[in-house]
Amino acid sequence: MKKHTLFLAKGLSLSLYLIVSLLAAAVAFGQTTAIRAGNLIDPAAGTIAKGQIILIKDGKIAEVGPEVKIPAGAEVIDLTGAWVMPGLMDAHTHITLDFDMSSGFDTIYLRESSAMRALRGLRTAQDILQVGFTVVRDVGNDANYAAVDIRNAIRKGWFTGPTVLTTGKIITPFGGQTHGITPEQGRFWLFEYIDADSVDEVRKAVRENIYYGAEAIKLVSDNSAFYYTVEEIRAAAEEAHAAGQVVSVHVMGGEPARNVILGGADSIEHGFYLTDELLQLMKEKGTWLVGTEFPQAHLEKLDPAGTMGQAKEEAAKEIDRLKRAYRIGVKMAFGTDSVSNLPGKNRGEMMLDYLDMWDAAGVPPAATLKAMTTDAAKFLKIEKKRGSIANGMAADIIATPANPLENIQALRQVSFVMKDGKVAKPKK
Ligand SMILES: [Zn+2]
Repeated sequence: MKKHTLFLAKGLSLSLYLIVSLLAAAVAFGQTTAIRAGNLIDPAAGTIAKGQIILIKDGKIAEVGPEVKIPAGAEVIDLTGAWVMPGLMDAHTHITLDFDMSSGFDTIYLRESSAMRALRGLRTAQDILQVGFTVVRDVGNDANYAAVDIRNAIRKGWFTGPTVLTTGKIITPFGGQTHGITPEQGRFWLFEYIDADSVDEVRKAVRENIYYGAEAIKLVSDNSAFYYTVEEIRAAAEEAHAAGQVVSVHVMGGEPARNVILGGADSIEHGFYLTDELLQLMKEKGTWLVGTEFPQAHLEKLDPAGTMGQAKEEAAKEIDRLKRAYRIGVKMAFGTDSVSNLPGKNRGEMMLDYLDMWDAAGVPPAATLKAMTTDAAKFLKIEKKRGSIANGMAADIIATPANPLENIQALRQVSFVMKDGKVAKPKK
């Protein structure tokens, strides 16, 4: 065989090999999954459609309806006896943190590296997905941008986990959330906070976070002797919004909260001491509440010395504030702030304990489910991609054996989880 003919033959077999492998990849990529949904919930409307078929292709919902034809060769998942809905969202998590107030943040910085924090965060993210949360926003306290790495590792497909939106380092007035550190120690809180004490410093801090991979911005306004002015909040909002990002502020009430609302932040986080007047102002300005109402058992674990007040009374106050916010009609996205581990429960299960608070406040199950799905997606500005079951949306789908619109506690028994079209928890 002449030399050039040999090359030609080799080239041909190589092309053939490439074509065959490309075809195989295309078949795998184009794999269609069909879910037979006995009861499909639309959380935006609070309605149920019976006997629906959801077709899923390339991680997205391709078609939904009662008459959808299931293509030959499709994998069929039978959820005819279940209630099917979009995956849950938690707008306020700290997946890399295990915290209690008696040891404070300071010891965590000294005793845990960013790598250790990332490992905990990854483990927590996986637990969270198993109970049905397919999206979480991590609002800081993640060491040196550890949540950015967790998010990226999940996106690369190295691990199965929820969509993680991260805020990067928390922007605060001088001192982070530490108290009484001696000058000899230096500003070691910069491990997970950025000191920003003027309009310009706030702008720079937002830009710094965006540069290092944040997808949302978080400020803490009133956890020290200083709090942010309307102008400082406005600067953060302008910078964040210019980058298409949401800006959220930890604030409890009073004038600091008024500044947050008037400065145009997207949300108040916690807001435990908001008066009816401030809640009314939030409604007028369209400020979201991510209320993080702690169940009593969590408060007891988080704050055994009762520095925040007696757990029972504190929980009752938080229930009352949730009740008033719902009555007044403030926009609400579900957020838990679960930051410490209770014995015998993983973080995902703990997040569902917050349902007790929504029940205790008399929020109807349909409104709670909306705050956990479609409304949370709107707040996080991802509603065009996630948060509902419709054509073109990411296939983040969960199922429960009972109807959560009748009893929201049904969400504690999530029996199936699909994340971006892949089954993360097979049907029991
Ligand atoms: Zn928090």
